[in-house]
Amino acid sequence: MTWRFALVLDPAASDDSRDDFGGTFRAIDPSAPALSVGELSTQRGDGIFESIGVVDRHAQEVQAHLDRLAHSARLCDLPVPNARQWAQAVAVAAGHCPPTGEAVIKLILSRGVEHGPAPTAWVTAAEAPDNTRAREQGIRVVTLDRGYAIDAPAKAPWLLLGAKTLSYAVNMAALREARRRGADDAIFVSSDGFVLEAPTASLILRVADRFITPAPNGGILHGTTQLSLFEELAGRGFDTAYETIPVGALTRADAAWLVSSVRLAAPVIAIDGAPVPHDAELTASFNRYLLSPRD
Ligand code: PLP
Repeated sequence: MTWRFALVLDPAASDDSRDDFGGTFRAIDPSAPALSVGELSTQRGDGIFESIGVVDRHAQEVQAHLDRLAHSARLCDLPVPNARQWAQAVAVAAGHCPPTGEAVIKLILSRGVEHGPAPTAWVTAAEAPDNTRAREQGIRVVTLDRGYAIDAPAKAPWLLLGAKTLSYAVNMAALREARRRGADDAIFVSSDGFVLEAPTASLILRVADRFITPAPNGGILHGTTQLSLFEELAGRGFDTAYETIPVGALTRADAAWLVSSVRLAAPVIAIDGAPVPHDAELTASFNRYLLSPRD
């Protein structure tokens, strides 16, 4: 049976230093209408969000998600969220998740109602989809041109590349195109031939005993899962690095994964129809790590 929980927040100023923000959010009926028709999140996709994985009621890497929410807010000229307020709301939402199993908590900060006084903010919790198949059997991906050069974020910051905005229609269109081409997912590449990210995940490549990922200054999200996995890999004695990766490097990779907060590590078994080696035991060890409680 699916379940849902929702809180609305009255966003506090980032420098509000009170200890207890309990009075600034309240639970609402998750199945009842909650947003005004003038909401700019629904009219223009004008807002930002985060998706946090929850395992056995433990919300994973909350601070890393709050840091990225603040980064997205800065890029979008939204008021910087009060980290303590959001952390307390996340703790309440996590407390409403089932004691065992996987869930997802979403944080949403929108520019608010058109001509309205303030941003709108809410937090939801829901059951996570079953990702066992992707984690264990792997995914086939195709490369798709994102249409921007690698230096687009510096030249055109108004494109908001690198912010996790609510405008995911393009990312969803890329997934549909991947499926039309007979694949499960996509890897975006820049128009000048560099590897970027997937529509909802970061890419990690293994080349011999090194693990590399595209540098986040190329207009991609800095993934919290990739960050956490790189820390773990460094702890296991592996070299890790952020690099500007040419598309040609994909065919030379010894292994590849798409990693994200809810699906976790999905091994890539084919890129544009060419098989990619898959180390099932290493992937299983990644997912065991990613499913363990992480702060
Ligand atoms: N890149 C994009 C475009 C994403 O949408 C996501 C997650 O949704 C990621 C990367 C991975 O981020 P994280 O590991 O924090 O979930």
